[in-house]
Amino acid sequence: MKYYSTNHQAPEASLQEAVVKGLASDKGLYMPEVIKPLPQSFFDHIENLSFQEIAYQVADAFFGEDVPADTLKQIVYDTLSFDAPAVKVKENIYSLELFHGPTLAFKDVGGRFMARLLGYFIRKEGQKQVNVLVATSGDTGSAVANGFLGVEGIHVYVLYPKGKVSEIQEKQFTTLGQNITALEVDGTFDDCQALVKNAFMDAELNAHMKLTSANSINVARFLPQAFYYFYAYAQLKKAGKADHLVVCVPSGNFGNITAGLFGKRMGLPVKRFIAANNSNDIFYQYLQTAKYNPRPSVATIANAMDVGDPSNFARVLALYEGSHEAISAEISGATYTDAQIRETVKAAYQETGYLLDPHGACGYRALEEGLQDGEVGVFLETAHPAKFLETVENIIGESVEIPAKLQAFMKGTKQSIPMSKDFASFKAYLLNE
Ligand SMILES: *Cc1c(COP(=O)(O)O)cnc(C)c1O
Repeated sequence: MKYYSTNHQAPEASLQEAVVKGLASDKGLYMPEVIKPLPQSFFDHIENLSFQEIAYQVADAFFGEDVPADTLKQIVYDTLSFDAPAVKVKENIYSLELFHGPTLAFKDVGGRFMARLLGYFIRKEGQKQVNVLVATSGDTGSAVANGFLGVEGIHVYVLYPKGKVSEIQEKQFTTLGQNITALEVDGTFDDCQALVKNAFMDAELNAHMKLTSANSINVARFLPQAFYYFYAYAQLKKAGKADHLVVCVPSGNFGNITAGLFGKRMGLPVKRFIAANNSNDIFYQYLQTAKYNPRPSVATIANAMDVGDPSNFARVLALYEGSHEAISAEISGATYTDAQIRETVKAAYQETGYLLDPHGACGYRALEEGLQDGEVGVFLETAHPAKFLETVENIIGESVEIPAKLQAFMKGTKQSIPMSKDFASFKAYLLNE
């Protein structure tokens, strides 16, 4: 399969090139040249397949030409060593719990898949160290760091905004050691993302070391996120609830929802999507006005969605050939303030006993407000509420039990390197590595 750049100025790339480069040389994002529809027979029996079996079929459509079947199967099965249950919260609203992986957030799926695929390519080539640069607003760093931990031939640099991620998030990527280095940047997530993007464009740096990205722009992280949309459908179909399915995705950089849109293009019977934003409502405004106006992000309690210029918007545009009309026909938007998010976490907990995290709360509320008669909604519960412990405990006025996996991280010692947001010092640091 060939991958083209959304900016159409860079040459087409093979899967391996796209995965190793991350971003195309014209700063565009890679897109698969074809999105293969899956056969009707697959959907007819999907409710009888396991998560891993479903995911392998989806993976095969994208990666089957480039990765031997047994290797791909192993990568998929290893990646999905945990479940993603669709849990009923109340009548016609389901939570797709994507927090059963090692770092309790959906990014585990893409992070683990990418680490294994990149590891395969490096082994095939016979080793030269590859350096993964990843900017994180919270959960990407932990998912990528844990996905790559101990993978030979790969070093990971996690850039995160100082003071803007929760203590638990921070512990998940600053306590690992081995091939993982955490860089604490005196700036915002957008500053971290800019440092990473500039590093990829810097000729001197690229001559010095082999760099790749593991942000949601990387096709190896981005595409596997389609897996669980199919599995959500399978579960709801089994429950007899899949006829008019609305999927709601709490969105920041828009990688997650875009993978769902790819799923729909492959034939997944989703009626429509809702993109739920926090106060960083750039996409919501785009839907209303047809104008895309990126602006600096503002900090919210759903901090993994604090994105002022969502990278994957370029992929959404590419998928719909730039048509605002086509985009609005399949995706609607919602935006919630911190006060509304708090209100939603509290009300849902009181009414249903289900504890939402601040990101999932945006998704849940958008379904509560936006479902039409006859529709069934599933929102992606993108992280475990205990990852946002203080926030969630303050809202509900009760203590929240911390899962054992998280407690283990809390016991580690933070190790990070302070970094300014100016590119020259970041570059000097990397040149010394
Ligand atoms: C990353 C993240 C999001 C946003 O996902 P995008 O793919 O960037 O849109 C939402 N919720 C949580 C918990 C996340 O970590």
